[in-house]
Amino acid sequence: MRGEAVRDWFAQRPGITALAALLAPVLIGVVGLGLAGLLPDVAPAGVLSHFSLPIPFISAPEPTPTPEAREVVPAGRSPVQVPIIEYHYIRVNPDPRDRLGFNLSVTPSDFKAQMDWLQVNGYHAITLNDLRAYFQEQKPLPSRPIVLTFDDGYADFYTTAFPILQAHGFTAVSYVVPGFLDHPRYMTSAQVEEVDGAGIEIGAHTMTHADLTKAGPAQLVLEVEGSKNALEKLLGHPVLDFCYPSGKFNDAVIASLRQFGLQSATTELPGTDHTWDGRLTWKRVRANGGELLSEFIASLGTPEKTVKVAG
Ligand SMILES: [Zn+2]
Repeated sequence: MRGEAVRDWFAQRPGITALAALLAPVLIGVVGLGLAGLLPDVAPAGVLSHFSLPIPFISAPEPTPTPEAREVVPAGRSPVQVPIIEYHYIRVNPDPRDRLGFNLSVTPSDFKAQMDWLQVNGYHAITLNDLRAYFQEQKPLPSRPIVLTFDDGYADFYTTAFPILQAHGFTAVSYVVPGFLDHPRYMTSAQVEEVDGAGIEIGAHTMTHADLTKAGPAQLVLEVEGSKNALEKLLGHPVLDFCYPSGKFNDAVIASLRQFGLQSATTELPGTDHTWDGRLTWKRVRANGGELLSEFIASLGTPEKTVKVAG
């Protein structure tokens, strides 16, 4: 009954019916436009074209290509602020009375907390290859660059640090003493090859962990050139970065590194600022066993300012 009443109502008013017929396509067009604006991929121009509305209003907007901007430390700064962290063991120190061992041992849980913090706070782990390329090849560095170095080639680098680094997508530098490889507590040659293949940079740390300031010319050849050559033979590529055992060096030691083609060397001098001229005495930040996360964070210093560049 209600349908008939409506039809009768319209039948008695032909003017209104004609007006409704005239307006219907326009109304549908307006609704269609709204859809096209909201869902440009779902309501393309073709669907709406038969409503005979002006083309410029119904064509879906072209997606504008937005180049991925990224933050970098631009080339050319000297000094450049890059914390080079000095780790030794990543382990729970087995002997509580061994204070030296305790200081050299960052526990796996503390280490993981440090890596978590670096990741969440936008730090990018780089290698010394990257830091050299920054100066030598004017290659920018990623924002908040950091170098994670591990001295001596202990077994726990492979068993404990390496998996945590990988889980965070972080690279690192392992300073290996070739004379200690395959000994108890140290990495095997195969493990060093494996981490090298996985993007960890291997640096030289002498053949016997000798105090180089007490070495004569012949021993310097053995310790400096010998360790570089042994690692290059194992890995099949140049090894250009060195670390002084216990941070000890003098002019004769530096001259020896130059003679044998080492491109960088790290010390235990504290600091985060580096220059190309100072590359054979680069400073480091020591990660001490038992230190609080807040102390670790404070030791990183102020991050180098970045600029935005197109990806
Ligand atoms: Zn060492």
